[in-house]
Amino acid sequence: MTSPAQARIDLAAIRHNIAVLAEHTGGVPLMGAVKADAYGHGLVPVSKAILDAGVSRLGTATLSEGLALRAAGVTAPVLSWLLTPGEDFARALRADIELSAADPGLLDEFAKAARETGVTARVHLEADTGMSRGGAPSAAWPALVSRALELRAEGVVEIVGLWSHFACADIPGHPSIGLQLDAFDEALRLAERAGAAGSHVIRHLANSAAIVTLPRARYDLVRPGLAMYGLSPIPELGDFGLRQAMTLTARIALAKRVPDSSGVSYGHLYVTDRETTLGLVPLGYADGILRHATGRVEVLAAGRRRAVAGRVCMDQFMIDVGDDPLSAGDEVILFGPGEKGESTLQEWADGLGTITHEIITKIGARVPRVYEGT
Ligand SMILES: *Cc1c(COP(=O)(O)O)cnc(C)c1O
Repeated sequence: MTSPAQARIDLAAIRHNIAVLAEHTGGVPLMGAVKADAYGHGLVPVSKAILDAGVSRLGTATLSEGLALRAAGVTAPVLSWLLTPGEDFARALRADIELSAADPGLLDEFAKAARETGVTARVHLEADTGMSRGGAPSAAWPALVSRALELRAEGVVEIVGLWSHFACADIPGHPSIGLQLDAFDEALRLAERAGAAGSHVIRHLANSAAIVTLPRARYDLVRPGLAMYGLSPIPELGDFGLRQAMTLTARIALAKRVPDSSGVSYGHLYVTDRETTLGLVPLGYADGILRHATGRVEVLAAGRRRAVAGRVCMDQFMIDVGDDPLSAGDEVILFGPGEKGESTLQEWADGLGTITHEIITKIGARVPRVYEGT
């Protein structure tokens, strides 16, 4: 191992997680959410691995993410769901990217691109069933459906899917869950009555949390993200048998003895209380180790967990290992699945007062992703 820090991605764990999810879906196919560089795990290697493991479709937020998959030779169906007027939809159609719309104006842009390119736009219509983020609210849904039908009649749009997204699926029993399910069913009924929901149209709603708790939310396709990467969508309910795929390691850049009362790092937030050994870890907030991780997370070094000593800097932070042996080049595990006694991502999230999604998507581009279990 030569690089000073690396994020090891265990593809065998990801395959295991997909098998776990498949047990929850009763044969309903999976669209893997690979937005944000596959939640920091690497868009292309992860996408290829999950397609090999039986995932049938990929979902991205941005069009650029969808195009990156095509550039890498991925041919599976790809849906990009966060689109903004004025984007290059002709390019999207030529690349065979399915597009989501919540607004008739965006459908019109897809139609224009279809006329230009001669490629029919494959469209998923998004209903806002109660999250009030993306999607057409119920009052605007009939107009969205009817515009899609007009454009379908013209041959420029094909209605491939009808979908929505949960606001609180990770809060079991939250009253909005049942209301969103009812609202989605109502949106589907309306689309069906209008003639936009034939048997070939894919209805999809469930994210990871819904997959593991709400059989009623399966419909024709489910959209797991977090759970594929082995992180619990509802930590209060346990790990669901998922295996964390990412391990973040670094090698100590410098180890040194310092005297009692040495102030450590910017602001001297940490002061040694005896002669001790400090180790310099070559990762900082530019790599996604949040500046307020000081005192809130622990890393495994010289056989034990160690607090971050003093401020996290842009590129580095310090640990204090007392009189334990530590040398430059030794490996530190920041987080992993926990098998060697290291902190898990869930422990980091709890310590930092955030969710695991945020930590994994912030691991910076300077940290190479190294794939194992291929
Ligand atoms: C991110 C995302 C998902 C996956 O969510 P998880 O909670 O990570 O499973 C599914 N659908 C949409 C629309 C998303 O944006």
